[in-house]
Amino acid sequence: MTFDINQISDAGIRQEFVILTKRSQAIFKDVSSSLGHGKLPIALSFINDGSFNAYAGKDQSNYKIEINAAVPLLSLMFFTRLFSDPAYFGHIQSDGALVTDFVTPAIIDIRDFEKRTDWAVQLNASRSFAAGTMADICSTFTVCHELGHIIAGHVDAVREIEGRDGIRELVSIAKAANERTECSQAWECDADAISATLMVNFVEELSRNARTNPKAGAMFAGRENHLTEEVLASVCSALFAFFAYVDGVKKQINVASSHPHPAVRAFYFKDMICQAMEQRAPFDFEAFSEIVDRQIDEALTVLEKMELFDPNAFSDEFLDQMDSERARMISIQQKYRAVALPWSWISWG
Ligand SMILES: [Zn+2]
Repeated sequence: MTFDINQISDAGIRQEFVILTKRSQAIFKDVSSSLGHGKLPIALSFINDGSFNAYAGKDQSNYKIEINAAVPLLSLMFFTRLFSDPAYFGHIQSDGALVTDFVTPAIIDIRDFEKRTDWAVQLNASRSFAAGTMADICSTFTVCHELGHIIAGHVDAVREIEGRDGIRELVSIAKAANERTECSQAWECDADAISATLMVNFVEELSRNARTNPKAGAMFAGRENHLTEEVLASVCSALFAFFAYVDGVKKQINVASSHPHPAVRAFYFKDMICQAMEQRAPFDFEAFSEIVDRQIDEALTVLEKMELFDPNAFSDEFLDQMDSERARMISIQQKYRAVALPWSWISWG
């Protein structure tokens, strides 16, 4: 059932959905006019469903992207909680009048909606703005990722080859890795790569805002004269925290999962968006790396306090495993691109 955003009673939350809708439509318009010649238009809808899922499909008149209402809602709740801790984005002042002040029974494990805990959230206007922005980054990523499945030809490919109606995100885990799992992992990686490229425009939009909106200026003022690097780092660290929340930072890499490991995704996304960014405008990679590491450390510190992250999980062995996973993803990408190529909107250069 479609989720009617006009029914949302909280004006701030409603506004998040309105902004996401407008931005998504602008992205669809851009993509359709630059790449989608002769293709059906793309339509976005929100689905009234509490599970953390998204979908890319097609009917006679449109390509369809459906985002469950839980995706923007849970990410907003999650970042509101993170920013309630002054350690997270420590350069943004925590004092002053509170605009957000409540205790919520938050879902702390996406896979287990029964597992809840009380989250006390208290934010002033600047930190509330920053939480909304980080949530916005994650929701925009989700929309761009679904769009990536359409652009890469995956939606048409599963319809023509397998008779499925489209691609649903909810992670499925097969008993053992097989050819099908490998193909879906490779396609997830490609959808992430397209999303990273599309999100370069969002980095530029956020940088422009930071020059005119004092709250946005305060959010990205962690390091003087490095606005672009601050914004780019925030996009990468938002997704890192988001992935940690969505799937849990697990010690084991499960090769039978339909999606690459969330931490692996966070790391290769960083590489992908930096590459795409470099082609647009040069930036200080060293400063960016320092900022993103600091932001991830701050996020992990708070996640640990929230019992959502176990610092022992990041052992040397785990990091080695992640490196080889990243290398495996790159190698299987090429192999499975060919499957969807007849329907792809791009040639992959
Ligand atoms: Zn996907």
